[in-house]
Amino acid sequence: MKRRAIYPGSFDPITNGHIDIIQRSLKVFDEVVVVVAMNLRKSSQKSSWFSLEERCALIREVFKDERRVKVDFCDGLIMDYARKHKVHAVLRGLRAASDFESEFMMAAINRELNEGVETVFMMTGKNLFFVSSTVLKEVAAFGGSIKPYVPAAVWRSVKEKLKREDLRG
Ligand code: ADP
Repeated sequence: MKRRAIYPGSFDPITNGHIDIIQRSLKVFDEVVVVVAMNLRKSSQKSSWFSLEERCALIREVFKDERRVKVDFCDGLIMDYARKHKVHAVLRGLRAASDFESEFMMAAINRELNEGVETVFMMTGKNLFFVSSTVLKEVAAFGGSIKPYVPAAVWRSVKEKLKREDLRG
């Protein structure tokens, strides 16, 4: 049986931190489905830079040569998605102690919702512990370069977006 995991998140946009987790997880799983989840909180929706479609397209572009990485989206509960698609593992990344509390709570509530699914945590990659989509968007909005922390396709899209819109604040 194929060992399949889903990797849910906002991916607004995908960063080298996410990519490192996905690449390392392919040593453990046969297939990883990156599931772009819609932000339910209105405040998070407002601060989104990329639409669900744009985020999926960027991830597809990054992994176009890796058949074991699939991309999908989810506008409901991740545990319902896992049940529907018969997935038994949810992959999450851990950066620092600050991630631990929210991830711990989420894993616990997800277990309540669906006991058949295990949450698997992977530690952040070398020199990537400070990389988060939120922080990178802030740096880029104020004119900083985020080129070292995102794939080329994302850097291009971010620059395009900044040319068209003022995304500060
Ligand atoms: P963020 O906006 O913080 O990057 P996401 O919802 O896109 O958040 O993240 C999806 C998952 O990837 C979460 O489990 C998050 O902790 C993890 N993640 C994000 N960036 C990194 C990183 N640099 N190293 C390890 N895990 C990460």
